[in-house]
Amino acid sequence: MTKTAVVTGASSGIGAATARRLAAEGFHVVAAARRRDRLDKLAAEAGAAEGGGPGVEPFMLDVTSQESVDALAAAVTRCDVLVNNAGGAIGMDPVAEGDVADWQRMYDVNVLGSLRVTRALLPKLIASGDGVLVMLTSTAGFIAYEGGGGYAAAKHGQTAMTETLRLELCGEPVRVVEVAPGMVKTEEFSVNRFGGDVERAEKVYAGVPDPLTADDVADAVVWCATRPSHVNIDRLVIRPRAQAAQHKVYRVADA
Ligand code: NDP
Repeated sequence: MTKTAVVTGASSGIGAATARRLAAEGFHVVAAARRRDRLDKLAAEAGAAEGGGPGVEPFMLDVTSQESVDALAAAVTRCDVLVNNAGGAIGMDPVAEGDVADWQRMYDVNVLGSLRVTRALLPKLIASGDGVLVMLTSTAGFIAYEGGGGYAAAKHGQTAMTETLRLELCGEPVRVVEVAPGMVKTEEFSVNRFGGDVERAEKVYAGVPDPLTADDVADAVVWCATRPSHVNIDRLVIRPRAQAAQHKVYRVADA
């Protein structure tokens, strides 16, 4: 029987890399995000699923819309692994100038988006008899940094939800895993954060010898999701070697 994994935010970055790796592991991967063209490209590259078999099945999903999440739940007949990855940051404003609309959007996609999808698919994770829920939080889920107030508030919220869920599901056949990356250089994360300003986005990684890649994080996600069923990786923190702590990042001087 082919196991099914649902990955949200699978059209780029960590989500796309996770979908690829899960498909390579033999999962039927429901790759969900808003941009269908990118999902179709992913399916073409990673191998499109036939029926419920192994490979990638694109699914258009907006985690901020209950209607869209309901449609996902109706379309997915089984769910062994759920990766709540859709999310992101908007802006780097200090709290004193925090934009309420930006903070609301970050809370909606990172926290409420994960809540909507979790609620929708939890009965199927339980019914699988050996479900795994992976929450993509961030080191911002437990550490603050200047300019990161709105994002850290949302990611702290997502971390709190993850820990609560693990307590509430104790005794059910579902593992609840948090994967918390530090600095990951993905195609779009920082560009989106800075409203499309590519130059500003590049400065985030300037001089850092090797930030994590999306595939490094996907490797960790898939490792967590494929441990023996009695092994729960509560939280996996993953950073590049050049980042010893949130504020301690090694950069080559002349970059
Ligand atoms: P990307 O910006 O590359 O990818 C974000 C993904 O989320 C895209 O596929 C996007 O697809 C999807 N998404 C955004 N909004 C929605 C929505 N409303 N409904 C459905 N999908 C949505 O980011 P990363 O891959 O870098 O980040 C993935 C996760 O990892 C996020 O939760 C992020 O907060 C977290 N993270 C990232 C770090 C980094 O440094 N990059 C560090 C730590 C954590 P589409 O636009 O097609 O919907």
